[in-house]
Amino acid sequence: INTLEDVRGLLAEHPDFPCPGVLFQDIFPIFHHPAAVRIVVNELVRQISEHFGQVDAVIALDARGFLFGPLVCQQLDIPFIPVRKAGKLPGTVIERSSTKEYGADVLAIPAGAAAACTGAIATGRQPRAVVLDDLLATGGTAAAAVALTREAGFEVAGFAVMVLLTELWAPLAAGKITAAGLTEDQ
Ligand code: IMP
Repeated sequence: INTLEDVRGLLAEHPDFPCPGVLFQDIFPIFHHPAAVRIVVNELVRQISEHFGQVDAVIALDARGFLFGPLVCQQLDIPFIPVRKAGKLPGTVIERSSTKEYGADVLAIPAGAAAACTGAIATGRQPRAVVLDDLLATGGTAAAAVALTREAGFEVAGFAVMVLLTELWAPLAAGKITAAGLTEDQ
């Protein structure tokens, strides 16, 4: 496994999973190959830096966003903050319902998450975050996560995914989120 094309070939398509009509892309075969994981993480880091500039935190989404979030954060040397399904995070949280390709969820972010960005806070700057997930289908999950991230006090620099439906490696700049079916104020 040497190239992005090699990694693309590892994605496995499953028709009618988890329900009829959905063509599910399984990303887990990537994790059979440490080299493939390195390629994905390096590419996410490169694209986040190139498209979004300096960011203070990565907000990654339960559950498959967690596979990449901490690895990307290690390289960027910034905090990882989870958005989880409701009922999973202790303490005070902010919640929002979301609709995805094959169901509905309630998502939650720790209310005080922005405090992790000590550098930004110390200089009186609003922390900038990139929201990260494995895959964007309808954009419903992304819209809810972006809204939650803003409600938790972050400026959202953009949304990054590994798979944009069939197109790989597509980070979405904040403006382009609109093109994925989300509106600016969501
Ligand atoms: P959306 O909200 O419709 O964009 O769906 C994206 C969310 O559902 C992400 O959190 C994905 O992990 C998950 N998802 C939707 N379709 C797929 C798929 O084909 N493979 C893996 N995850 C998917």
